[in-house]
Amino acid sequence: MNNVDMLQIAAVIGVLVFIYFMLTKNKKAAQKEINNLSEINYKNKSSVKFCDIAGNYEAKESLKEIVDFIKYPEKYNKLGARMPKGLLLYGTPGTGKTLLARALAGEAEVPFFAVSGSDFVQVYAGLGASRIRKLFSKAKKVEKSVIFIDEIDAIGKKRLGNARGSDEGDRTLNALLTEMSGFDENNSTIVVAATNRIDTLDNALLRPGRFDRQIEIMLPDKEERKEILQLYLTGRPIEDDIDIGKIADQTVFFNGAMIETLVNEAAIIAAKLNSSIIKNEHLEKAYLHISAGKEKRQLQVSMEQKKITAFHEAGHAISSILLIPEDRILRVSIIPTTKGAGGYTLSTSQDSGLVTKEYIRNKMMVLLGGRAAEEIFFGNRNITIGAQNDIEKVTKLALDYVVKYGMHNKLGTINYGVLAKEFTIQTNIEKYVKDLIEELYSSISKKIKENTEVLIKLAYKLIEKETLDEKDILKYTENLV
Ligand code: ADP
Ligand code: ZN
Repeated sequence: MNNVDMLQIAAVIGVLVFIYFMLTKNKKAAQKEINNLSEINYKNKSSVKFCDIAGNYEAKESLKEIVDFIKYPEKYNKLGARMPKGLLLYGTPGTGKTLLARALAGEAEVPFFAVSGSDFVQVYAGLGASRIRKLFSKAKKVEKSVIFIDEIDAIGKKRLGNARGSDEGDRTLNALLTEMSGFDENNSTIVVAATNRIDTLDNALLRPGRFDRQIEIMLPDKEERKEILQLYLTGRPIEDDIDIGKIADQTVFFNGAMIETLVNEAAIIAAKLNSSIIKNEHLEKAYLHISAGKEKRQLQVSMEQKKITAFHEAGHAISSILLIPEDRILRVSIIPTTKGAGGYTLSTSQDSGLVTKEYIRNKMMVLLGGRAAEEIFFGNRNITIGAQNDIEKVTKLALDYVVKYGMHNKLGTINYGVLAKEFTIQTNIEKYVKDLIEELYSSISKKIKENTEVLIKLAYKLIEKETLDEKDILKYTENLV
């Protein structure tokens, strides 16, 4: 062996040692990460209870049912009822999703395991998936538990066909899906996930047996804001005549977290001023702090937005009561939804019933009633983008009415889509769609104008209370003609 050979061998050995060293280093770091997971996130028992969460009534009702499932599985198993495996809480941040998940574990008196989706989007290949497996294996060791995955969108983004974006993300998501299917029917572990981007989630996550229960968590309305204020003021020394109603009024579009901060800030201000109790003025100051700078303008915009939204929703509600009385209106609200609408009108839509031409026309008019009310009360120049979704729906319905359903008297009983496949046709379909929508828009505008008094009353009640239930709505719309 000559010197050159020796050198070559030494170099190869050196490289091998180096590679081995790097590999084990990565592996060790990965193992450490995995171990950390169990230490950091394992919470023995959650002490949060439902009474620590204000508002969110529907979510709490839904969770109470699951608490019962976790506590008394036999009761349900005997009847062959399966517990939902996954529960998805979606909605804007700071509205209490994490708190609700903790309370679920607290009420059911089971361990709470929490991770965040954003913890999975870094580091070493395969780590995301192994973290998921580790998490579930921990959970499986105890008989019952709540697993909480915050920011699920970070691992569960829509996968685009075959164009696999990040293989690593896919592996993590697949591991999660596999683990969730792996639980046997009698296991009382429930996986709760939270997101503020439900629209970006992969459909695989929303399928039966996965996160098939979905609950929207919304911003608190005025009554709920009062409750949150009450919750955080209780137990603190406060002035007798604290005006909770006024603060609730001011804090339009605040979430629960911001209200909690507001109360805490007020306590700090009171302490700084050597006051032994929290007074109105401290809350007032805290409010100004939190909404500092843009507060005046923002408040103005909020008020303006509330007003237009109130008229818009009142327009839908009144159109619906007049034209489709068989649909019950359960709630009208001017609290924004996660889907971008400024407010919403919730009804028991009878879409499963007999869909007649009359019904479709009425449906379109109800959809147009929001924008029509905006235009009537605020003028054409002040109409807002809040009608975007309504307009999209109306356009689709009108197109189907003309092209698919053969309901347009002049166009006849023809499916123009089928026809267009065989022949080059010139029909001016757009014109018919446009004329139809215009006709319906002017008839609903006329109806709204005949009922301005009722609409104004309803809109102002909405501005005052933000959310009205069925009973209120019926009361304020008694005099429709
Ligand atoms: P999310 O998970 O929806 O982003 P969190 O549950 O983390 O919101 O809420 C943050 C904090 O805000 C909570 O710890 C709590 O102090 C407060 N909070 C939010 N919503 C509520 C509510 N409805 N009732 C009481 N406190 C709330
Ligand atoms: Zn609308």
